[in-house]
Amino acid sequence: MSRVYNFSAGPAVLPEEVLKEAAGEMMDYRGCGMSVMEMSHRSKMFQDIIDDAEADLRDLMGIPDNYKVVFLQGGAALHFATIPMNLMRNGVADYIVTGQWARKAFNEAKKYGQANKVASSEDKTFSYIPDCSDLPISPDADYVYICQNNTIYGTTYHTLPNTKGKDLVADVSSCFLAGPIDVEKYGVIYGGAQKNIGPAGVQIVIIREDLLRDDLPDYVPTMLNLKVQVDNGSMYNTPPCYGIYICGKVFKWIKSLGGLDAMQKRNEEKAAVLYDYLDNNSMFKGTVVKEDRSLMNVPFIIGDKDMEAKFVAEAKEAGLENLKGHRTVGGMRASIYNAMPKAGVETLVEFMRDFEKRYA
Ligand SMILES: *Cc1c(COP(=O)(O)O)cnc(C)c1O
Repeated sequence: MSRVYNFSAGPAVLPEEVLKEAAGEMMDYRGCGMSVMEMSHRSKMFQDIIDDAEADLRDLMGIPDNYKVVFLQGGAALHFATIPMNLMRNGVADYIVTGQWARKAFNEAKKYGQANKVASSEDKTFSYIPDCSDLPISPDADYVYICQNNTIYGTTYHTLPNTKGKDLVADVSSCFLAGPIDVEKYGVIYGGAQKNIGPAGVQIVIIREDLLRDDLPDYVPTMLNLKVQVDNGSMYNTPPCYGIYICGKVFKWIKSLGGLDAMQKRNEEKAAVLYDYLDNNSMFKGTVVKEDRSLMNVPFIIGDKDMEAKFVAEAKEAGLENLKGHRTVGGMRASIYNAMPKAGVETLVEFMRDFEKRYA
């Protein structure tokens, strides 16, 4: 068996320990004679899997009892609609547009009410996070929306916006469990699993109880009614069973390494290896202002398209995969999520150093 270092932005690298364990349980999950993919979601066996996953997630993030957790389908992109449908009581919401995912969420929200763009970093290709200390928050806004880590552009909020008392809603798809966060600062935290915590097909929503409503407009599909999903324990219909099982294993893996403080430390050390090199070489350049850099997604350029294509191709030959930048940005991007070992980042930097020597 030979595995590459996979720098994909998503679906992305998973911990080897988790993959091995899942492989070992594939044919016969704990003596039940079938795989998790084949069992009823109404079975005791599966109920234990989803209950364990939720308990471990609550434990890792310190989720208070008045927040509900659901495991849903549809990806983060479906949630761009679910959020306004469920949360717009006054029909007004404020959006901070720091990249493509935030922009898509903003455009989707406009279909359901008045969505205001209260800040944006579009003027400089989303290479920074705007100052959010004193934004023109609408007095009747139902929530303020952010994409906390911008997967494509490689920026992240190191300080949360001042929402002036409005509930904060955050898409954390690409920084879920990357480090500790204070759940009580949010009304809703949600994200797709396939970046940092599991396979594609699972979306996790953490929502403060009082935001769930019985009076949603009739047009809201039952499947997108978060109260219905919460009341049914993520099982109004068949949930993404196998994905939830793998997420549960990733949660246990994170716990075994010391939880989210340990993850944060690991991620800081890993990212420093790459950023230090980017700041001290003659060929490659990071594209994001230093103070807003993401620990998860690191875009960089050479500034010469042919050389960049050569870099991506040679890196692939060397077992460093998926380093091509997003199709809308170009250049390169290394996604270095929780499951990317430090050795992977060190190998990448060694390769870059060698490439610089040969072509600079
Ligand atoms: C990938 C991504 C999405 C879209 O996720 P899907 O599961 O494909 O819908 C949304 N937001 C962020 C921040 C992402 O990184």
